[in-house]
Amino acid sequence: MNNNLSIGTKCVQAGYKPGNGEPRQIPIIQSTTFKYDTGDDMGKLFDLEASGYFYSRLQNPTCDTVAAKIAELEGGTAAMLTGSGQSANFFALFNIVGCGDHVVASSAIYGGTYNLLAVTMKRMGVEATFVAPDCTDQELNDAFRDNTKCVFGETIANPALRVLDIAKFADAAHAHGVPLIVDNTFATPILCHPIEFGADIVTHSTTKYMDGHGATLGGAIVDSGNFDWTKYPEKFACLCEPDESYHGVTYTERFGLAGAYITKATVQLMRDLGSVQAPINAFMLNLGLESLHVRMQRHSENALAVAKYLKSSDKIAWVKYSGLEGDEDYELARRYLPDGSCGVVSFGVKGGRAAAEKFMQMLTIAAIETHVADAHSCCLHPASTTHRQMNDEELAAAGVSSDLVRLSVGLEDAKDIIADIDNALSAL
Ligand SMILES: *Cc1c(COP(=O)(O)O)cnc(C)c1O
Repeated sequence: MNNNLSIGTKCVQAGYKPGNGEPRQIPIIQSTTFKYDTGDDMGKLFDLEASGYFYSRLQNPTCDTVAAKIAELEGGTAAMLTGSGQSANFFALFNIVGCGDHVVASSAIYGGTYNLLAVTMKRMGVEATFVAPDCTDQELNDAFRDNTKCVFGETIANPALRVLDIAKFADAAHAHGVPLIVDNTFATPILCHPIEFGADIVTHSTTKYMDGHGATLGGAIVDSGNFDWTKYPEKFACLCEPDESYHGVTYTERFGLAGAYITKATVQLMRDLGSVQAPINAFMLNLGLESLHVRMQRHSENALAVAKYLKSSDKIAWVKYSGLEGDEDYELARRYLPDGSCGVVSFGVKGGRAAAEKFMQMLTIAAIETHVADAHSCCLHPASTTHRQMNDEELAAAGVSSDLVRLSVGLEDAKDIIADIDNALSAL
């Protein structure tokens, strides 16, 4: 698609261009398999000598159409969909990290990603060092080891809402010859383009704003095509040396820097681990993407109004929203999120854990859910739910205090959302 077009136009139209008499909306190709005239034709696909569809665990046309749209939205060269945000982050890491390797990660990340690194990937022999998002250059530098293979962070951390200094983390990663992976779930490409600030790979839980209606689980991985794996052929042998399971294909040679990383993740990790997004889910995700630009603007406006209201209330101990003047990340937000800080606000209710729980029960518009980032307002107490496996020290490092309430401000009218909060606070 024409690169000069605005992001809103891309949200509606990128990735799919119907021909004469073809459906205006993307077709759902609900088929596990694809037909060929000869075994030879199909053999070429298995050897990666020809491109085409043969089995939907590897690739499906509906999913590819939606992935192509997300690649354009992020300004990347290639993208793939996965069955969930968890599998997107796992694949993004595991594509270049293996037993004996090391990852540097921001400590302010999603609880699921923390567990992925600290528990499951640790069992696979991968070690992670967590650094505070506002660490000094020296502290960041000291976290690297000889076996470090990548750096990981979240544009807006869930649920701590810390804003990542993407350029700082990208510079450190590149100085050590490794890529930066940024989970851009909360910001979406409407509010931030991590690739423009030096991120090499961008991941998403499309379950959140991209779908935006709480309807479908999914994930996406986008490659910028900017990281030159061939400069470090020993470190990234998995991309720069022949893959025997494809008769000796070398991904960087066959697919170039623009395609090597996503092709490997598709034909090797999807083949062996199988974590696909269903075509019907990709179709629903695409419906969400068509209005992403409109919704993100409203989510951000509503959340800023709610944050300002909370800040003015004497029942509230503290408010965390990077779009709020005076917030510790306000300057970072002005740089990385000039068009809004998304719909998620966190705050502490005076009276701690018990008051927070009572407050949440009194709300009638925002429901108590583990979910965030969809049209319906919802709220959660992370310390007793999503982050309950962490001790107080780990909670503090992740930026989650025991009185923290995470409120995902939806698309209802801001006036009604604020009146509802006001009513619940007055009951305390
Ligand atoms: C929800 C979330 C994930 C995990 O995504 P799922 O789709 O639930 O698997 C990963 N990263 C962030 C920032 C998230 O908010």
